Amino acid sequence: MTNDKIIGIDIDDTLNYSSEVIKEYILKYGNNYSDDNYLIKNIDKIMRGLNFDGVISLFFNDYCEEMASQMKVKESAKEVIDRLKEDGYKIYFITARSNKFYKNAYEFCNNYLNKNKIYFDKLIVGQNHKLNVCQNENILLMIDDSIDTCERLKDNGIDSLVFNSQINSEKDTYCDRVDNWLEVYNYIKEKELEKEKILLLDKN
Ligand SMILES: [Mg+2]
Repeated sequence: MTNDKIIGIDIDDTLNYSSEVIKEYILKYGNNYSDDNYLIKNIDKIMRGLNFDGVISLFFNDYCEEMASQMKVKESAKEVIDRLKEDGYKIYFITARSNKFYKNAYEFCNNYLNKNKIYFDKLIVGQNHKLNVCQNENILLMIDDSIDTCERLKDNGIDSLVFNSQINSEKDTYCDRVDNWLEVYNYIKEKELEKEKILLLDKN
């Protein structure tokens, strides 16, 4: 065990706006991939990453990197991450992005983060199921738009925060959720206060 306070952060739809760009590309190019508008009909499923069958994987092979390079970092994400670093947290990006559709997912994400001046201590790619990696890396809090991921972490004693996006907002969860990065910062500060209170109570 280390004393490092490590915050895990997902990239797609957490650090940046992803599904908006994917949707735009599917609407633009989707009908080149099948006669029956398969991609457009399954747009929600595709944005949730639930299904990567033949046609979908052809589409991602062609456009994955182009789409990803256009994704905009969410408001205040950079400022909040810088602030967390100043507050003594370590920042790990943990993403499902992998070499399946990226030529080199690590290099791509590394460049993207640097280009957008996003601070981080570690970048871990190819992680579809984030429980193991969060356990191994001793993650204190994972911020992710995937409700399944957040619930699995919480069920296993790792704090998690659901970042609301256009594709998860209608789904219910027992996890805490936030709409923006300022709320992420407030959540972390509130948790610190709670911990201090518990420490004080223990002392008395
Ligand atoms: Mg995501």
